[in-house]
Amino acid sequence: MTNHLSERITNMATSATLAMAAKTRELRSEGKDIIGLSLGEPDFNIPDFIKEAAKQAIDDNYSSYSPVDGYADLKQAIANKFKRDNGLDYNLNQIVVSTGAKQSLANVAMVMLNQGDEVLLPAPYWVSYSDIVKIAEGVPVEVPTTIESDFKMTPAQLEAAITPKTKMIWFSSPCNPSGSVYSKEELEGLAVVLRKHPNIFIVSDEIYEHINFIGGHASIASIDGMYERTITVNGVSKAFAMTGWRIGYIGAADWIAKACTKFQGQITSGANAIAQRATIAALEAPVSKIQYMIDEFHKRRDLVLELLGEIEGFKLNVPEGAFYVFPNISSFFGKTLKGTTINNASDFALYLLEHANVATVTGEAFGNPDCIRISYAASEKELKDAMARIKAVV
Ligand code: PMP
Ligand code: GLU
Repeated sequence: MTNHLSERITNMATSATLAMAAKTRELRSEGKDIIGLSLGEPDFNIPDFIKEAAKQAIDDNYSSYSPVDGYADLKQAIANKFKRDNGLDYNLNQIVVSTGAKQSLANVAMVMLNQGDEVLLPAPYWVSYSDIVKIAEGVPVEVPTTIESDFKMTPAQLEAAITPKTKMIWFSSPCNPSGSVYSKEELEGLAVVLRKHPNIFIVSDEIYEHINFIGGHASIASIDGMYERTITVNGVSKAFAMTGWRIGYIGAADWIAKACTKFQGQITSGANAIAQRATIAALEAPVSKIQYMIDEFHKRRDLVLELLGEIEGFKLNVPEGAFYVFPNISSFFGKTLKGTTINNASDFALYLLEHANVATVTGEAFGNPDCIRISYAASEKELKDAMARIKAVV
């Protein structure tokens, strides 16, 4: 049968992270002992106080449609969180709650981009950015960075990438996949360039804000001249281990928030009511309540860096946040391991899956074909076993 699907979906790549997670599930169901280090998903249970809030919401009959942009008291909790953690003043008209930060990003793309608008993506970037931009008919423009600069974009690189068609720049800090964290000074440097280009908007994806091992998260919206043109994206998936509850949100200029609400009013009618109620409890809690998870991620990062550091051919930087390492493995390109020739990062990731039974993700999906992404959101035992298995096959 001929392809009746739209060009839009036919041209879209499948999410590499979710595809690898599906492959891991499939191999496990065939009885294979796969260690899954592909998905960026905390392996902790949701803290009990959040579960209690959700149970209470069910008993309190939160079963109707919520306002499209989220319950007012949730938006107030988000406004308080923005003030407390980021020094940002957003009123309730500037906040939109969505079905995960992924949907928040898709909303922004759909309401901001016209055909041909360029979106700068400092690479490596989170896997879904480029396809979200493309489905909104924007043009993703990669700005490559290297491990030597800790995968951070310099002001000069930003300046050189800007064209008359540049509409936005999207980046995450702490970064998925590199774990890099932009300091306030580094963001100031980028802001110097952006001040010369007042029509460029910024998507600042801060979903890993709390998973930061150096302290001092900086939001670009708090820098002079950046507030009006920044869309600050955040959510509860990572810090509160609530990936399946699907709550994300933005703070932005009210006209952008209004457009996102209009869009989502035709697409989802708003986020899940019970999960919204639970999110109030999550955001109102002091950050100290989730510190145990952050400490654990920090320990695991050190463990993975130590164990990977013992394997020849892995070039590493020191990620300061999130829960990923992004080693450069290009030294294996052109080599033949156990009869398999490794030509690129995808070959290498597949080799690890087939020969070490360890699932990782190719860096190609994140705009860097020399690296692979390893998530250390896994137990210490799994991490030790995985690193030993990798060492044995390379
Ligand atoms: N941004 C980044 C950088 C992420 O890693 C993720 C993880 N899924 C998301 C956004 C989306 O998060 P969610 O939709 O689960 O809120
Ligand atoms: N953000 C996570 C990751 O990068 C979850 C998967 C996804 O949402 O694509 O692995």
